[in-house]
Amino acid sequence: RPGIVFENVHFGYEPDRSILHGLDFEIAAGETVALVGPSGAGKSTIARLLFRFYDPQAGRILIDGQDISQVTQESLRAAIGIVPQDSVLFNDTIGYNIGYGRPHETGPAEEAAIREAARGAAILPFIDALPDGFDTEVGERGLKLSGGEKQRVAIARTLLKNPPIVILDEATSALDSRTEQEILKTLKSVARGRTTLAIAHRLSTIADSDRILVLENGRLAEQGRHADLLRRD
Ligand code: ADP
Ligand code: ADP
Repeated sequence: RPGIVFENVHFGYEPDRSILHGLDFEIAAGETVALVGPSGAGKSTIARLLFRFYDPQAGRILIDGQDISQVTQESLRAAIGIVPQDSVLFNDTIGYNIGYGRPHETGPAEEAAIREAARGAAILPFIDALPDGFDTEVGERGLKLSGGEKQRVAIARTLLKNPPIVILDEATSALDSRTEQEILKTLKSVARGRTTLAIAHRLSTIADSDRILVLENGRLAEQGRHADLLRRD
């Protein structure tokens, strides 16, 4: 069963400058695929097309068998979670930050779900803490969260949202390599059972993917398993 399908996708931000030139790929439901390639290759563009920030000039994009041009913005947002490179935190507790944006969700069941997500992302001890730099009305001092801890908040948000599709958009690129390895372990629990597209430019961040797509100049240069691509090097 396909999770994400790009079918002959042509796209350019400007009419006379094509960025994706008839891109074809498929990610099976539940599969974790890494999308790697040099800066400017078009990796983020693929994420933007999945969210329909832009529509392709030709070709089709399907998620779970449905052409996304036929899907409402609301159900697209519900279907896809994203862990970005840097997360911005709101002026409230870590728990609030994890649950923020969930309409009509309050009460004990939601609080338990937030705690569960925080536990899954290994950020539970900080759930009542305030992020760095914020003075609240009561004058409490914020806690200085490291880059890795901020990513754990973003991971908890995604676990709580529980979408069938997840995009990891350079989710560990801003971290030092030791923190990166720790966050990568936690990201496994996000990818498990979900269709996952992991955008990265470093090979070290993709060792656990089922398959790797190598994008160059808006075209798939190669695809295969980690070991097979290394062998061909
Ligand atoms: P990557 O994520 O692989 O670094 P991008 O998808 O961000 O690559 O960019 C692919 C190409 O599209 C680059 O040449 C970039 O300059 C261009 N590009 C990205 N965003 C825009 C935009 N909003 N308008 C015009 N060109 C853009
Ligand atoms: P929710 O949509 O429920 O608030 P998410 O935190 O998963 O939960 O989604 C944040 C939204 O922000 C996404 O739906 C997407 O539209 C947008 N977004 C955030 N970061 C990125 C990014 N790096 N690339 C593309 N879209 C992004």
